Amino acid sequence: MQGFTPLSPPPRLLMGPGPINCYPRVLSAMATQLVGQYDPVMTGYMNETMALYRDVFNTKNQQTFLVDGTSRAGIEAVLVSAIEPGDKVLIPIFGRFGHLLAEIAERADAEVHTIEVPWGEVFTPEQIETAIKSVKPKLLATVQGDTSTTMLQPLADIGAICEAHDVLFYCDATASIGGNPLEVDAWKLDAVSVGLQKCLGGPSGSAPITLSDKFVKTVRTRHHVEAGIRDAHHQAATGPKIRSNYFDLPMIMDYWGDERLNHHTEAASMLYCARECARVHLEEGQQQVIARHKVAGDAMLAGIQAMGLAPFGDLRHKMYNVVGVYIPDDVEGEEVRETLLLRFNIEIGTSFGPLKGKIWRIGTMGYNAREDAVLHTLQSLETVLRMQGHHCPAGAGVEAALSVYTQAKNAVNKAGSANE
Ligand SMILES: *Cc1c(COP(=O)(O)O)cnc(C)c1O
Repeated sequence: MQGFTPLSPPPRLLMGPGPINCYPRVLSAMATQLVGQYDPVMTGYMNETMALYRDVFNTKNQQTFLVDGTSRAGIEAVLVSAIEPGDKVLIPIFGRFGHLLAEIAERADAEVHTIEVPWGEVFTPEQIETAIKSVKPKLLATVQGDTSTTMLQPLADIGAICEAHDVLFYCDATASIGGNPLEVDAWKLDAVSVGLQKCLGGPSGSAPITLSDKFVKTVRTRHHVEAGIRDAHHQAATGPKIRSNYFDLPMIMDYWGDERLNHHTEAASMLYCARECARVHLEEGQQQVIARHKVAGDAMLAGIQAMGLAPFGDLRHKMYNVVGVYIPDDVEGEEVRETLLLRFNIEIGTSFGPLKGKIWRIGTMGYNAREDAVLHTLQSLETVLRMQGHHCPAGAGVEAALSVYTQAKNAVNKAGSANE
């Protein structure tokens, strides 16, 4: 035991592209005592979690539940359950996570077709429709917000295109949910998976997902029940067996459904946590949470620009919750990050692929989409840049951010008094 002290990490402020500091209530929820997995209290919590996430996703989908694992557990569950070997899958790639979707679809033996735009841009609906017409995929798989580029792909018009061409529409909205609008039913999405560690303000380790009736019907045709528990409800499956047991969505649905057929042991502490993330989100109000992310993102962006730093990408399509910042030529990007982390206790993100060494990524997500967090980050970054010999106007970043917050507060007060 010698040398193994109790856990006591430094009080970091996590201002990268995720993970972020948890909402305090979410941390407390994780420390709640367990009950058995078929205890009516637990199954009650499971049903409540389904109902809460229907509201978070803006959907009426019955099949809205948690896949245990980090966000990619949700991605993998959707893709391995939907894809039969040889199925065509179309993936518009605008950043690192599009490549991840392609990689997972390939492992599921899909015939993968990709289209790409340069990092920092998004697709038009026309570009996607043209590709759908030529590929004729079974499934369109896209990311909504790709933290690698900070871009938010507009989805509102794509569902109708998919419907017209009889294509299933899946989206990984891990980075964007909670901080940007996501309307699962209105936008006609068939499957969406997310995680907690971005704007929902929890730790990674649970992947909420929602599935349309059409998607459910498709995966149900592949339902092979485990030997020994087949009963009158289960007809013989017609499709090839889903290759993963853990990520077999029909089995997971039967575990979350009235039948409660045993599958895995629910990760109860993560369920407590996911349930609390949704409660925090809905209690504050979805519109209010998104507005809080927008003002934090606007303030961070204004601060960065006032410091004379250049933001990355097409700002019309930037996610509210993260900004890419070009690293000035006269500083060492990694040294700045290290000093911020070790001396100021503030973490900001590095980058991947074509952006490696070129930009930092600064997030304002969940619990950290707060004025004080924005101000501390800007002031500390300015100080570290000065320590590195890069000169930016003193106090300009913080002042610009403060003025964005002041304007936002005035707008809210004005709207409030107009309603009186
Ligand atoms: C952050 C992020 C993930 C994270 O996946 P994990 O398995 O939780 O690490 C997935 N998709 C997108 C788009 C993300 O931004």
